[in-house]
Amino acid sequence: MQTIDLSGQSALVTGASRGIGAVIARQLADAGAAVAINYRSRGAEADAVVDAIRRNGGHAIPVPGDVSDEAAAEAVVKTAVEQLGRLDILVNNAGVNRDRLLMRMSAADWDEVLSVNLRGTFLPTRFAVPLMVRQRYGRIVNVSSVVGLSGNPGQANYAASKAGQIGLTKAAAREVASRNITVNAVTPGFIESADSGGMTAELTDEQRRQILTRIPAGRFGAAADVAGAVLFLVSPAAGYITGQTLTIDGGLIA
Ligand code: NAP
Repeated sequence: MQTIDLSGQSALVTGASRGIGAVIARQLADAGAAVAINYRSRGAEADAVVDAIRRNGGHAIPVPGDVSDEAAAEAVVKTAVEQLGRLDILVNNAGVNRDRLLMRMSAADWDEVLSVNLRGTFLPTRFAVPLMVRQRYGRIVNVSSVVGLSGNPGQANYAASKAGQIGLTKAAAREVASRNITVNAVTPGFIESADSGGMTAELTDEQRRQILTRIPAGRFGAAADVAGAVLFLVSPAAGYITGQTLTIDGGLIA
């Protein structure tokens, strides 16, 4: 069986203190990559992810910083490169939601979600690309959402940010393809994280039942389902795939 081998490579995963990001980081480490675990506020959780990777024989470091802040995002990328020696893989996973119906949504709700999800994808990419261009190698994966493709009531800000990530992915892919750098997006559907509530935690039992009737696979996704797709997109096997959006949703929007 062919396995994905990322030994000798270094990765930065934003928003990796819990949820999908933590599982992506652990899978990258299991494949042999040294991983920088970025987070904004949950230092203890980030340390636990780092410890779990180290106990498993992998290499990981915690890198705090708000990716929507320009100086902080630059420092996060710089710290990852300084401590890991290089940066081959960037996974822009950090994200938040502030769900409200459009007519009740404040400009602050809008700005916060766009800032973390879209600006927070642009900034690490902006600071990682020059390093990847010099290396003539890079793999960038942006964690968007099916909501960016389909829309969803109560999520105008979130949907706009997730659709924006897809446009950013396509533009960046065209700019850097000649330098052996790929930029792709994944669009997960409803994903349940084992460790935290994550973004499906606020659903009521009735909402969960309703959603399940719409998922052909008959189950919510797991963070590992998303991590598997990310792992493929950063692997040597995916070197000719760029500017694409890979949906991981059990058939929800097929
Ligand atoms: P989560 O459990 O809430 O985790 C979010 C992560 O992002 C945390 O590690 C958090 O760190 C970090 N973060 C938030 N703001 C940040 C900032 N400004 N700078 C740096 N890190 C920041 O979320 P999740 O459910 O795993 O979702 C992860 C990604 O998948 C998001 O982009 C989300 O939109 C996308 N997604 C999720 C689902 C789902 O069903 N769960 C579906 C589709 C797409 P701290 O807590 O330490 O601040």
